Amino acid sequence: MATGGVERIFTDILDRAKALDPVNTRKWFDNLRLLDFTGGSLEIGCPDESCVYFLNKNCRGSFTRASQQITGHLVTVQFSVDGHIKRDSDGRSQEYELSLHPDYTFENFVVGPSNRLAHASCVAVSQSPGSTYNPLFIYGNSGLGKTHLLHAVCCEMKSRCAGGAVIQLLSCEDFINRFIRAIEVGDVLGFQSQFRSADALVIDDVQFLREREQSQEEFFHTFNALYNNGRQIILSADSPPSEIPSLEERLISRFNWGLVARIDPPSYETRVAIVQKKAHLRGLSINDDVAEYIARKVHANIRELEGALTTIYAVAMTSGNEINLELARVALEDQLESANRHISITDIIDVVTRHYNVRLADLQSKKRSKSIAEPRQICMYLARNLTKHSLEEIGGHLGGRDHTTVMHACSKIGRVRTGDAAMHATLDELARRVTQGTRG
Ligand code: ADP
Ligand code: MG
Repeated sequence: MATGGVERIFTDILDRAKALDPVNTRKWFDNLRLLDFTGGSLEIGCPDESCVYFLNKNCRGSFTRASQQITGHLVTVQFSVDGHIKRDSDGRSQEYELSLHPDYTFENFVVGPSNRLAHASCVAVSQSPGSTYNPLFIYGNSGLGKTHLLHAVCCEMKSRCAGGAVIQLLSCEDFINRFIRAIEVGDVLGFQSQFRSADALVIDDVQFLREREQSQEEFFHTFNALYNNGRQIILSADSPPSEIPSLEERLISRFNWGLVARIDPPSYETRVAIVQKKAHLRGLSINDDVAEYIARKVHANIRELEGALTTIYAVAMTSGNEINLELARVALEDQLESANRHISITDIIDVVTRHYNVRLADLQSKKRSKSIAEPRQICMYLARNLTKHSLEEIGGHLGGRDHTTVMHACSKIGRVRTGDAAMHATLDELARRVTQGTRG
């Protein structure tokens, strides 16, 4: 077993693994223990199953690389539950698969006006499954916390139900794939009994049921069986039930039986709080000015907010500098530049037409009055500078103009920009809106 020297090597490996993979670094990494390190095999003890799951899914590569870099040898890494860190309440093994993300708890979820209803309904459901809102349907754009909330409900239900409630949590794609597999191996009955006997069925991203007629049929019967027995059903999707394309009417109506709660993009204050929370989870402390800077830079998507924090963290780790506003600025500049690569001409046209209050049809028309021609040229100028499209492509989006027209527009706007401070400011502001996805 571990001697002092091996323990030190393990600490080095852990530090290296964190440096190699800041995205997945978690505060609880410090609770990991060395279980065994013999014969080129490193066994790492984790507090519980969900941590093992998280590490296996996200961190195996970085731990393997870290071990090899530190020891200079080929090492295989294995994660297992260490009874000494934390024991399951009654030590029973769970007869069903429930892989919860250890960070996705209510405690780690920041509540604000944008998600208050969704959060409150999830808390209510976790306290008395099957009797408050059934089904509970959470929807919102990608990266706004639906999966996080679903895991949090399951985690809470699991901890409240000492007798071991059977909770089935899976993505819609998983549900469909397992159903297809059950058909292939001729075990549809097994599939049905597994899902229809659950105490709670939680399905993430049900919009993937679209155009899956047979799966919709199966899901319909599963839904009925559970509902009629007072079992909890929780669903998430990227849009409300009625807007999921080609979803059967009978499913739409059932999804609307309980509570449908929307999650909106977070406000500035919520974003600041989320950045602070995420930093804390990774064992980082960042000043308010850094959190505020990140929250101002990233608006629409919490996953990207985390991405920004990760980038800053990675730059701090590799440069050995502490995280401050200056470092955050430098780190995010690169990231914002790379975001530019995904800007489309449509984004630009959208921002410009709003700003100048003109219609796309006008920009594409033959009209040459200044009030139309100038926004058109600005679109060309911004598209030239913010996207990788060719002159021909840009001209194509603006009424089929040829490349010399686009070139002329770009050089003209470029000249005006240098000589006219107001135009300079307007162009910067429009570019900012385009790169940050705010239409303003
Ligand atoms: P979705 O399923 O809606 O696409 P996720 O649940 O995967 O979004 O969330 C994306 C990331 O943002 C996750 O890391 C999650 O923890 C985080 N997140 C979302 N909302 C919040 C919140 N209110 N507080 C803290 N973290 C959040
Ligand atoms: Mg999700």
